[in-house]
Amino acid sequence: MKTRTSDDSRSTDFNGRRLLWLGDRPKDHRGRDLLLGSLLRDSRLRMFRKQCWKPPAWAPQIPPTVPAKLRPQAQQLGILFSHQQHWIKKLRSTVEAEGGAIRFLDRLADCAPQGAQFERRDSADLMQPCNYARSCPWCHARSVEKLYKRLDAGVCSLDRLRGKHLILARLRISSEMPGTAKTIVAGQRFFDGNLDVLLSDQVKAVKSYWGAYLKGMMHSMGVRNGVTIYQNSPFRAYGDYNEQIRCFCHELTILGELGEYTDSAFEARKKFMGMLPGTGPPVVSLGGNCGRTTHWGMISAARPHALRYLLFGTSYKCPVRCLSLSVSKYWDTKYGLAGAAALPPWFLFSPTQFWSYLEATQGVRLFDCFGSWRQTRQQEVSTGPSVDPVEDRCQRQRNRSHGLDIRNTERRDEATVRREGLVDVALPIFNGLKEVSGKGPGSPSLRKALDRSGKIVSERDARWLTKHLTEMIDNGSR
Ligand SMILES: [Zn+2]
Repeated sequence: MKTRTSDDSRSTDFNGRRLLWLGDRPKDHRGRDLLLGSLLRDSRLRMFRKQCWKPPAWAPQIPPTVPAKLRPQAQQLGILFSHQQHWIKKLRSTVEAEGGAIRFLDRLADCAPQGAQFERRDSADLMQPCNYARSCPWCHARSVEKLYKRLDAGVCSLDRLRGKHLILARLRISSEMPGTAKTIVAGQRFFDGNLDVLLSDQVKAVKSYWGAYLKGMMHSMGVRNGVTIYQNSPFRAYGDYNEQIRCFCHELTILGELGEYTDSAFEARKKFMGMLPGTGPPVVSLGGNCGRTTHWGMISAARPHALRYLLFGTSYKCPVRCLSLSVSKYWDTKYGLAGAAALPPWFLFSPTQFWSYLEATQGVRLFDCFGSWRQTRQQEVSTGPSVDPVEDRCQRQRNRSHGLDIRNTERRDEATVRREGLVDVALPIFNGLKEVSGKGPGSPSLRKALDRSGKIVSERDARWLTKHLTEMIDNGSR
């Protein structure tokens, strides 16, 4: 880990940006519960926890502008940021100096945490999110927030879920599984190879076999609407001689709403929750001596923030017993509740593990909504529930297109206003360049010249400006 001594360099340790402020809105707290709560209660991160309680010398310094009550969180965010940067540095040493991998790492390293305000490094610093929700903690939190907002405003609003319960079931499987479980995964031999490498076939096998298994179980309990989340993280299993084996942990979670109380669903629920003698959630070995790894948690949807607790999880010190939440017997909730989308500690991946993980999970969606949770907000506003499934599907398609049309028109209007505002600034620069070179400048040189004068524009805006100014001058001279 890098060591910094000067206070000045430590205060800009967020990749050269200075932290100005930490958000205090509910969405900022949700994001931090997801990022910090998940990692603080993760048994694989003892060192991270220690560093959070007693910040080491290399930790970014928190400026006095951050209010006292938010300082510990800002400090923990800084430590997580440093771990992420250090890990990216380690990954850099394993790839060629130029190419797609290095560009990917550049974007990953340049992504800034959400829910905090930073001072830009310079005028060229656009602070754009990298959108790699499976490797970037900040973009992971962004995508979970997006899902939450959509559900909370629509299918999971208090009105829609009145009198219902939300349930979460989580299954964790190690890629190093002893005999029985290994043969269950469709008799595949995927796990017999190099344990340090994840294959897309493994991901597919786990998703199709265990995903269907978990979904079937939830279905028997009356869960018709919800979301399935697949995640993968580094894990150390124990071998035959108690030696540690570096491998992967597959994690499948279903968060859904419990439907009507039919007799069979009630019976299945009682069995799953271990309310009948000799029953309980299914036991799947996590390798070595780790035992029960299927957990469930249930909360009344009428409880304020029910969806938030089950999706993001709670903060590390949240007293779960006050939340009217039922959880499985073996789920340790002493340090808060791990939500369905809890952040895995990716920065523990070795470079070999990470690159194989990236390839194996390419195109695998983080969330797969099913039932009514699939609907978009636009559609919920414009239509009620439809009886005919075919008509319902067509209507959904029409609404989706309509929603996209509206958003596209809004974006186009915004871009036109923004670009027209740039014309007056860009015209003298454009003319200057034209005089020097004797011909109209191209969009890259106009963009660079604007950049030098302190006006940052995107590539598309520069193209529009070049075309518009060329036409304007041509028309003016005629
Ligand atoms: Zn990102």
